Amino acid sequence: MITLTNLSKIFRTELIETHALREVNLQVNEGEFAALTGPSGSGKSTLLNILGTLESFDSGDYLLDGKSVKGLSDAALSKLRNEKIGFIFQSFNLIKDFSIYDNIELPLRYRGLKASARKQRIEQALELVGLHARRDYLPGQLSGGQQQRVAIARAIAGQPRILLADEPTGNLDSLMARQVMELLEQINQQGCTILMVTHDPDQARRAGRNIQIIDGQLHDATMYDPLAAQSA
Ligand code: ADP
Ligand code: MG
Repeated sequence: MITLTNLSKIFRTELIETHALREVNLQVNEGEFAALTGPSGSGKSTLLNILGTLESFDSGDYLLDGKSVKGLSDAALSKLRNEKIGFIFQSFNLIKDFSIYDNIELPLRYRGLKASARKQRIEQALELVGLHARRDYLPGQLSGGQQQRVAIARAIAGQPRILLADEPTGNLDSLMARQVMELLEQINQQGCTILMVTHDPDQARRAGRNIQIIDGQLHDATMYDPLAAQSA
C-alpha cells in the first residue's frame, strides 16, 4: 500500500540544513498496525507528514497504492488525501466553538458530501467512539480522552484507508490512553491501516509492528529492500 524508496528530506534555512530523513526505505501493507518510535527530533512527524502528503520530500520516491505521488498537483494531492488518508494529532485540533457534531461534519462539508450522507457517516462515527450522547457538547465540555475520540471520529468519518496518528495519546493519562489505543485497534480490525507515533513501549508492543527512527534513519526488522524487489 505504501512504499518508500531511498526517501530523503532536508529542511533548509539560511543558516542550517537539517537532514530530517535519510534514504528511508519502508513498505507498509494494507491492514497493518505499525508503531513509529524514536527520540525527539528523529524525524517521526516528518515521516508521517510526508506519508500524509502534507509535506514534500527532496529525493527518493513515495508510492501510494503503486502510484508515485511525485509531481502531483496540489489539487491531485488534496484529492488523494481526502479519499485515502485520515489524521489524528496529539493536540486533538478540534474547533472549540463548534459542537462535537459540527466538528466531525466540517471536513465532510469540504468534500462536498450531501447532507444525508454526512449525517449517516457522523452517526456511525459517533457510535463507534461511544460519544453519541455528547453530540451537542462543545469540545471544552469533554475530557481529553473524549476529545481525542471526537478527533478519531472526525478522521474515521472520512472513511480513510490509512490513519496517520502523531502521538495520539501524548496528552492523555494512562486510562484514557488505553481507551484510545483500544479504539484504534478496533478501527484497525475493521481494515484500516494505521501508522502511529508513540513513546509508550506498551503501545509499540501491542501494535503488530514497531518501526524505529533514529536520526532520520529507519530501523525495522521487516524493512523493505528495494534491490530485492527489483530483482523479484
Ligand atoms: P520528531 O517528530 O521525531 O520529534 P520531527 O520530524 O518533528 O521529529 O523533526 C525532525 C527534524 O527536522 C528535527 O531536527 C526538526 O528540528 C527538523 N524540522 C522539522 N520540521 C521542520 C521545519 N518545518 N523547518 C525546519 N526544520 C524542521
Ligand atoms: Mg513529532
